[in-house]
Amino acid sequence: AAMRKSRVKRTKTVCTYCGVGCSFEVWTKDRHILKIEPQAEAPVNGISTCVKGKWGWDFVNSEERLTKPLIRQGDEFVEATWDEALDLIATKLSSIKRLHGPDSIGYIASSKCSNEENFLFQKFARSVMGTNNIDNCSRYCQSPATTGLMRTVGIGGDSGTMRDIEKSELIIVIGANPAESHPVLATRIKRAHKLHGQKIIVADIRKHELAERANLHVHPKPSTDLVWLSAVTKYIFDQGWEDKDFLQGRVNDVDAYKESLEKFTLEYAEEITGLTHEELIQLAEMVHEAKSVCILWAMGITQHLGGSDGSTAISNLLLATGNYGRPGTGAYPLRGHNNVQGACDFGTMPAWYPGYEPVQNKEVRERYEKAWGVSLPEKPGMNNHQMVEGIQKGKIKAMYLFGEDMAIVDSNSNHVHDAFEKLDFFVVQDVFFSKTAQFADVVLPAAPSLEKDGTFTNTERRIQRFHKVLEPLGDSKPDWLIFQELANKLGANWNYKDPGEIMAEAASLAPIFAGVSYERLDGWNSLIWPVHKDGTDTPLLYKDKFFFPDGKARLYSVDWTPPFEAGEEYDLHLNNGRLLEHFHEGNMTYRSEGLTHKVPHPWLDVSEELAAERGLEDGALVRLTSPYGQVKVRVMVTDRVRGNEIYLTMNSSEDYEAVNRLTSSYHDKITHTPNYKEMGVKMDVLEAT
Ligand code: SF4
Repeated sequence: AAMRKSRVKRTKTVCTYCGVGCSFEVWTKDRHILKIEPQAEAPVNGISTCVKGKWGWDFVNSEERLTKPLIRQGDEFVEATWDEALDLIATKLSSIKRLHGPDSIGYIASSKCSNEENFLFQKFARSVMGTNNIDNCSRYCQSPATTGLMRTVGIGGDSGTMRDIEKSELIIVIGANPAESHPVLATRIKRAHKLHGQKIIVADIRKHELAERANLHVHPKPSTDLVWLSAVTKYIFDQGWEDKDFLQGRVNDVDAYKESLEKFTLEYAEEITGLTHEELIQLAEMVHEAKSVCILWAMGITQHLGGSDGSTAISNLLLATGNYGRPGTGAYPLRGHNNVQGACDFGTMPAWYPGYEPVQNKEVRERYEKAWGVSLPEKPGMNNHQMVEGIQKGKIKAMYLFGEDMAIVDSNSNHVHDAFEKLDFFVVQDVFFSKTAQFADVVLPAAPSLEKDGTFTNTERRIQRFHKVLEPLGDSKPDWLIFQELANKLGANWNYKDPGEIMAEAASLAPIFAGVSYERLDGWNSLIWPVHKDGTDTPLLYKDKFFFPDGKARLYSVDWTPPFEAGEEYDLHLNNGRLLEHFHEGNMTYRSEGLTHKVPHPWLDVSEELAAERGLEDGALVRLTSPYGQVKVRVMVTDRVRGNEIYLTMNSSEDYEAVNRLTSSYHDKITHTPNYKEMGVKMDVLEAT
């Protein structure tokens, strides 16, 4: 028994499934995962996990794992050695670069992969390949929130930690569903609500779990949040309830902003949002009465034509009421992927180096040029939306994508697939043969988080280390190692022995990571950026100053953009989002038996009214049609949605196509984030039960 026990290994890891960033020990014996054991020392979750963290790991041993590089020959893929695959990629990328210039190649990074891997990939795109055409999936989710915060407080990140959220007297949750998308955070909120009398307002078109518990649940018409937020802010000014000292000492542009609020009267807000006079006043009163307010939001705000403006309106309300810089206050755009914060922080963005320093800033660029010994491109690159359009226009000839299933998760899939078909050369690097891999010329087998070392940054800006639990399966390799080997084939001379050396380089270059090191992140330790050279970190932002040169915040005037209308025949409003048991497109969770057993496929929420009108029962099969495509899906009749509003989970399974067959290519004006949440569809009943 002692012998057997000694073969059991316990290794700390960080969950790969959502921005909460739970950490725990994985118990393994050979390749068997025996159990997940959370520890009290875990800084975010202590002894909690959700169902994904606990049961979502079988995928690492799935027979469908990619274990060898694959090269396309006609319609077939044949196995190849690493040398063959990397030589082919190096030759093709060099010749396309020579023929069409460095900006003819696009690079898509992964919010599921580590900070070090994202850092290295942007270094590869910029220093080896000479372009800023690099982006990650925050373009599909929280880029508008980053814009809203950059405009008002100067940097894009959650204001504080989840412990700060717990301390808040009032939390407002808008267009987010933490009980399914950020479960362990939702548990903390529920506890604070129950034990400490924390008040909760939910503004959402769905009556999700937190909405049912909330002190106030308001249901504005889809895509109208900016209007009620601005009307509530105006009402607060009209009553003289704004925080005058805070505004005077710490905020610029107050008068111009107040003027811009003129049109947002209660009457106007009632008409546009459908909320009543009483509801609007109650919202304002609850904000006024609370000593600390924080606002949590997600895709229900950002994925609109006016997503950046909606996020700005949230920050304006917080500034007007002095709700920044103290525990329990602030802005919390909830990050979806486990490392979408880190992917942005470490520079896989077309206009920013790591740590949000602009590529156009000469001084910053020279710092990187000196360190890397090359000259770097000055012009900001294309984002993922522009890359797809760039392929259609013949400007982008090749792409290199890792750990991202763009063929499913980008909006208007049919349009995206058509673009991928037109590429001269396409490299896809992933754990599985994803939908996107079907369009590739070379597919490289990558190792998931359990098979490598690295760090992830959660939604709180908290950097945590994860450790290798298992050896990479077959010939698969950690993504950072693949980038290094490819870079060296293209003439670089990279010699990183481990991800710790990559982090050391990032820390030496990006001021917000100055004091980050693997030593300081040892064991259960974590650091919340900005991290000063001496190792002090910053759990709570804006205590003394905002991230503008004069240290003051700015109220930023915004106007409402009405949502996209597909046309009268598309009579149903389609909303979409995550569910508890499956993550994102489902590539990992559908290959984890414990989870698939619970939820084998996506479904469509239909209201009781609509079900009665169309004669639908649970399990009915319907076809949804938009101007862009069709999907078939099974129905669940529920009171979570109302009237003609329907809701489809975003993942796809083997038999059911994903929602993005229906969504359009329209997008937020500023960030190009698709307007996933503004979709009109019509429904045909195929089987009533
Ligand atoms: Fe924690 Fe999110 Fe992982 Fe669940 S999915 S265990 S809440 S990090």
